[in-house]
Amino acid sequence: MAYTNSPLITYTKLSPNNSGQRKYPITRISIHCVVGQLSVETLGDVFTSKKRQVSSNYGIGYDGKIAMYVPESNRSWCTSNSDNDNRAITIEVASDTTSPYAVKDVAYKSLLDLVADICKRNGKTKVVWIADKTKALAYTPAANEMVLTVHRWFANKSCPGDYLYSRHAAIAAEVTKRLGGSDSKSSGSSTFTPYLVKVTAAVLNVRKGPGTGYAIQTQVRKNEVFTIVSEEKGWGKLKSGAGWIRLSYTAKKK
Ligand SMILES: [Zn+2]
Repeated sequence: MAYTNSPLITYTKLSPNNSGQRKYPITRISIHCVVGQLSVETLGDVFTSKKRQVSSNYGIGYDGKIAMYVPESNRSWCTSNSDNDNRAITIEVASDTTSPYAVKDVAYKSLLDLVADICKRNGKTKVVWIADKTKALAYTPAANEMVLTVHRWFANKSCPGDYLYSRHAAIAAEVTKRLGGSDSKSSGSSTFTPYLVKVTAAVLNVRKGPGTGYAIQTQVRKNEVFTIVSEEKGWGKLKSGAGWIRLSYTAKKK
């Protein structure tokens, strides 16, 4: 899958503090607390300082503004762990300077939007939070799953702070809901609720099965609306029976 960047960013300041192209596909998101109610501009000054040797892919200011410092294609220097940084999109969120390092409501809202956007563009329909370091790091995510990891697992830090850490289960559930997935591991297909999507790509292939390995049956066009009756690996089955479409090229109708 080609790397893309979030359309939600309103500020970009590229940091030299990165390792170039990441070694592994994106399967994780690591949320951090800044320990300061900073703006995205000030955070950008910190992350572009070669002396500081730190960066993140994205930052969220105290006012909810979203910035990019390292493109998603590249490994940021954020979680003190090469293996994690090579797999994760890292997000720094402006926070208080003392425990529990609370973040403003508007910043938290932006965080949910950004996590959902990252998942969607990277073909993920489910966010997985396993609050046990050993189990989480040993977990092999399915193709449609994004795993949350935290800095405190890799360094002697409280990051992302108890305010955000205690919300990780809620973040996973809320974003999974927005992505149209299920937050229950044992959910069966019988519980699937059909929903409408609008095509956002100019032209989108309809394939016989959920993957690019299946034959193209037909094509659909931008702004056409379809009912999805089943999901698999980021693909949605059309109610018409015409086949499957990639859900990352559609927008869910509300
Ligand atoms: Zn951190």
